[in-house]
Amino acid sequence: MSDLAIDLTGVSKNYTRRFKKPTPALRGVDMRVHRGEVFGLLGPNGAGKSTLVKILMTVIRPTRCRGSVLGQRVGHKPTLAKVGYLPEHHSFPGYLTGAQVIDFFGAMTGVPRRERKQRAGELLELVGMSEWSKRKLKSYSKGMRQRVGIAQALINDPDLVLLDEPTDGVDPVGRRDIRNVIERIKDEGRTVFINSHLLSELEMVSDRVAILVKGVVAQQGTIEELTEGQLRYELVVGESDGAGDLLQRALPEGSRQLALPEGDTQLARRIGFKGLLPSGESIEVAKNTLTIGSNDPKLIQPIIDRVRAEGGVITSVRNVRPSLEDLFMQAVTDPTTGKALKPGAEEGGKR
Ligand code: ADP
Repeated sequence: MSDLAIDLTGVSKNYTRRFKKPTPALRGVDMRVHRGEVFGLLGPNGAGKSTLVKILMTVIRPTRCRGSVLGQRVGHKPTLAKVGYLPEHHSFPGYLTGAQVIDFFGAMTGVPRRERKQRAGELLELVGMSEWSKRKLKSYSKGMRQRVGIAQALINDPDLVLLDEPTDGVDPVGRRDIRNVIERIKDEGRTVFINSHLLSELEMVSDRVAILVKGVVAQQGTIEELTEGQLRYELVVGESDGAGDLLQRALPEGSRQLALPEGDTQLARRIGFKGLLPSGESIEVAKNTLTIGSNDPKLIQPIIDRVRAEGGVITSVRNVRPSLEDLFMQAVTDPTTGKALKPGAEEGGKR
């Protein structure tokens, strides 16, 4: 048995509509998801995430696709008996109870009645919804509906669970509950594939991630792999009105300022100074924090000396890895203009 739950090469999808130019939603996606891991697919709205999941679920046909799901070719319907799916924007009828929703989807996937009843109880327990099992969905919060949605995705005892935006619109407490459920599903030995545009969520639960931009995978791997060689130093001084100026004055002579991307007022508000040290490493001052794009502690020493000589109070010096958000921003920013790449395919955003 292959150790890959999903193995895709060159998946493309052009949406065609009469009298309209085709929309290239996917343009040759290569992706490998290992069995037993939580895999996060990240991308801005319109990047093609749902399109990819729908292809895996055989809801839509790919234009081109080579690859397998649980060892069978993509599109092999019987394999879906071993796949669980939580669609994006599902709307289970509000008049059904949590237990009925799970039972309904169990019946659709051909799970025998007796097994369904027993499993529904176990699943409601797993997602922490036992006490609400006999209440109607219309009385549930968004987070509770999502948890029941995850439970229905597990009714057929799947090896692979596809969750499309499971925490979208869910409050922070609900998001934490869902994270815990995902960890429990993984502990049961299942592979979990999550689509999300919520970076911090994926960072917390995923073993590996792929960043999808305009229908192609820009990066793929563990967060450690993706951030390798990108360790940085971060120096924080006590918060005060002049903190940013103090840090800028402490930069070595010969440091060069770089222009911020035009028109990005949000970035301009956050970043006081962006530039390069004389030795070429990147530097950035944002409020009371200085970040140097290097892992070399020697570079930070003269800066510390100057900050202290001016009476500044250093509150922390840390060696940090870029966050998933930093990686994501790198992937969705055009390096030549510094501007954000437009979401979605050339022919426009989401309908
Ligand atoms: P994501 O899930 O990352 O937000 P989608 O897969 O929904 O992205 O969409 C990718 C691109 O395909 C978008 O440009 C979207 O407008 C387009 N698209 C999605 N579904 C259809 C469809 N049924 N017909 C035409 N274009 C579509």
